[in-house]
Amino acid sequence: MANESIVNVRFIDELKGRGLFASRDIAAGTVLFEEKPLVCAQFLWNECYHYEACEYCMRSMENAEEMARRLSANPSLVLPCMECCKAEKQNFVHCPHCRVAYCCSECREQAWNQYHQVLCLSQHPPDPNHPLVILQEVWKTMHYPPETTSIMLIAKMIASIKQAKSKEEILASFNQFCHVPQNEERQLSHKLLGKQFEGQYEALQPLLLNALHEESVAQWFTPGGLRSPFALIGMNGQGVGSSSLSVYVHNCDELDLEAEERHNLDQFIDQLYVEMEKGIVDIMFVHSKYLLVSESGAFLNCEGSALYKLQSCCNHSCVPNAEISFLHNNSTLSLVALTDITEGQEVLISYLDKCCKERSRHSRQKELRENYLFSCDCSKCRLQCDDPDVTSSEEEEEEEEMEDGEASQAKN
Ligand SMILES: [Zn+2]
Ligand SMILES: [Zn+2]
Ligand SMILES: [Zn+2]
Repeated sequence: MANESIVNVRFIDELKGRGLFASRDIAAGTVLFEEKPLVCAQFLWNECYHYEACEYCMRSMENAEEMARRLSANPSLVLPCMECCKAEKQNFVHCPHCRVAYCCSECREQAWNQYHQVLCLSQHPPDPNHPLVILQEVWKTMHYPPETTSIMLIAKMIASIKQAKSKEEILASFNQFCHVPQNEERQLSHKLLGKQFEGQYEALQPLLLNALHEESVAQWFTPGGLRSPFALIGMNGQGVGSSSLSVYVHNCDELDLEAEERHNLDQFIDQLYVEMEKGIVDIMFVHSKYLLVSESGAFLNCEGSALYKLQSCCNHSCVPNAEISFLHNNSTLSLVALTDITEGQEVLISYLDKCCKERSRHSRQKELRENYLFSCDCSKCRLQCDDPDVTSSEEEEEEEEMEDGEASQAKN
């Protein structure tokens, strides 16, 4: 699926490793390649909040109206122009054993052949004492929204190895992801889980061992060894979002309407988002636990994380010339050119989220060092190299909030 004729992977140097380069001149807006993940997993809390997604490809499985009703807590809401919703429910199927849902029989088959024989809970509802159920429940008590990763991503990696006909081949494909030096694993994996989760590996490790022990990656099941796969997904994991409602809104935008109809539809959609966002902010921090009182649990989309082979070769710049998009309402990733790119030029994406990208050089560098273990020397950072080492004010506020949160947690 990846269109490798437009881009090629090249080794740069020991420090930077590999990079992605344009094989020919590329116009802004071009899709450089599309790629399915090696593994992807929906976040567990996202699933709890009834964001129904295909277990294999993360396609959003509610239709736009169902999603809008749930998120706005208005069960009688009626969406206009439902022809703009492309959810195709007639193709949906279940695993006959555990009843987990797939958007089509191909997804069910692919999951079964890759990892689901190992991960299937065999019955519905599942046995609460099943080791995988216990692992997920413990994970949920450690990792609240906004989630950044899921223990199920690691579980799917291990299950894929267990089921693989050629273990060497699949281990090699996991090993080609950006390697994290052992002395940095601790810092990176704790950063991924948050400071308050120090020591949680000790709780997860025996549960994972019990649920999924696999000889060829025995080192992951030793005390402390679990940091390796966590560091790997911390460095290489890519967030995925899908939503039937976004597809619907996008298609509504494309409709050719009379001025008045257009105005009414736009106003309806704006109002819908206002209603939905009301639900999202209702998260409270009570008795050292997040009490999720909203309908949506702080999400707007089906959310999860995934590992992509080709995308993981793409280096960072604070002034990127490409960006990641999910154009198919599932985990298939599209890399889209933001600017014209000339033949031989490196294709660069931003690892920073939108708000962090606008912060000071010092703030960006700090974020990149902590999360991705490198110092950025992109054109913007070089231009700003004489800027004083100040932290952006938003970040200071954020840090204060975090400290306040920790203090109140300690009090409880
Ligand atoms: Zn699917
Ligand atoms: Zn199953
Ligand atoms: Zn930079």
